[in-house]
Amino acid sequence: MKIYVETYGCQMNEYDSAMIRSMLVSAGHSLTSDLAEADVAIVNSCTVRERAEQRVLGRLRHLRGLIGKNAALGVVGCVAQRMGEELLSEVRGLDFVVGTDRYALIPDIVEKAGRGLKCVETDQDNSEDYGDHPGPFTASLSDFVSVMRGCNNYCSYCIVPHVRGRERSVPHATVFAEVKALVRLGMRDVTLLGQNVNSYRDGPVTFAQLLGIINDVPDLKRIRFATSHPKDLSEELIDAIADLDRVCEHMHLPVQSGSNSILRRMNRSYTREDYVALIGSIRKRIPGIAVTTDVIMGFPGETDEDFHATLSLMEEIRFDSAFMFRYSVREGTSAATLDDDVPEATKIERLKTTIELQKGITTAINQELIGTQLEVLVDGPSKRDASRMFGKSRSGKTVIFECPDECAGKLIHVRVTSCSAWTLHGETEAWQKGLARPVDR
Ligand code: SAH
Ligand code: SF4
Repeated sequence: MKIYVETYGCQMNEYDSAMIRSMLVSAGHSLTSDLAEADVAIVNSCTVRERAEQRVLGRLRHLRGLIGKNAALGVVGCVAQRMGEELLSEVRGLDFVVGTDRYALIPDIVEKAGRGLKCVETDQDNSEDYGDHPGPFTASLSDFVSVMRGCNNYCSYCIVPHVRGRERSVPHATVFAEVKALVRLGMRDVTLLGQNVNSYRDGPVTFAQLLGIINDVPDLKRIRFATSHPKDLSEELIDAIADLDRVCEHMHLPVQSGSNSILRRMNRSYTREDYVALIGSIRKRIPGIAVTTDVIMGFPGETDEDFHATLSLMEEIRFDSAFMFRYSVREGTSAATLDDDVPEATKIERLKTTIELQKGITTAINQELIGTQLEVLVDGPSKRDASRMFGKSRSGKTVIFECPDECAGKLIHVRVTSCSAWTLHGETEAWQKGLARPVDR
């Protein structure tokens, strides 16, 4: 059968979709990006905020009309896990619903759907790490490898532990083999994924040690990871970033709020002062490291004073960039029992103010980079201007510059000449002399 897969949400879902595609291809099916010819359409879904969930439901209803009358429609991922059977009545003509620990059943379920059978599989299994389905699944220049599943933190607003189950770590040997195989297929930049990679454990192997192991994969040029939780970020991990040559100087460290009373009610287990001190020691050990974050506006009970505490923290830390969200009630989380008392208009206003503030900070940080030289991994032609190439700096910033096509996949030095809020523009010194000089190790 011809299978169409569409993905919403986080990098973990991207990774899972690649795994699902690979399972289906191994079972003899083929993939298509053309809905009209698909026998089965699968949506991998996100439920982290209500809007994400509504989008997925809307898309499923729309897809039902776009695919053939006899084609099957299925939903997998976090909305599937959260809503289960209820989805069959929410989306007319839906054929199957598969939760986050049941992906190994998908080839069978797809067969059944092809024969017109409906199916719901949402049992949770806290030992499922898909170790029987090792990657690599795709091979782009930059790719993801999942090193953990689930989350034990129960931040009060967050649905993830409820739909993704308990924490489990993928054995280090499996991660190593997968990264090595991906490098053989062309990957040069890997992002190791987990909801809280700081709590990675494979027997005695910590996450910092896992980084050390992956750092030895031949021909791999860069290692990134997400996400880190401030409450248990270790000295050992900071040392690993400082000492391991392939590990990029970038840390995504969600703070969520700058107010201690909100942080307490979010169950984040650290204070504003702890966070500021942590960033201080990271920056002391790794000068110039990029720090990015997530913040939530309008958590229940967030006063103007609390909100201003978040703004002042953002000014104090000066994050390189931030993902900023309006609080969204998620049924089943402990915060759902609190009164969602910040009016929607206030949430929107606070979000707008925060975005403006961060845009100014990001732009100022980028401007400070003008005149400096960055190591860039050349990706491919820029989407806006095909005569230029784009790539990422070690700090994760997008850089646009001119260089010959044969530099794609290589590390080069680029001098930053100008910037906008989200992008740096630059030139290669060697290119000015008509010769791009890779700086490959
Ligand atoms: N494990 C990661 C990612 C969690 S989801 C982490 O701990 O950072 C990504 C982000 O979504 C969170 O960091 C948080 O900022 C945001 N988020 C989660 N639940 C939310 C909710 N109910 N409303 C608004 N934003 C939310
Ligand atoms: Fe959600 Fe907190 Fe776990 Fe991140 S650490 S996934 S925010 S519960």
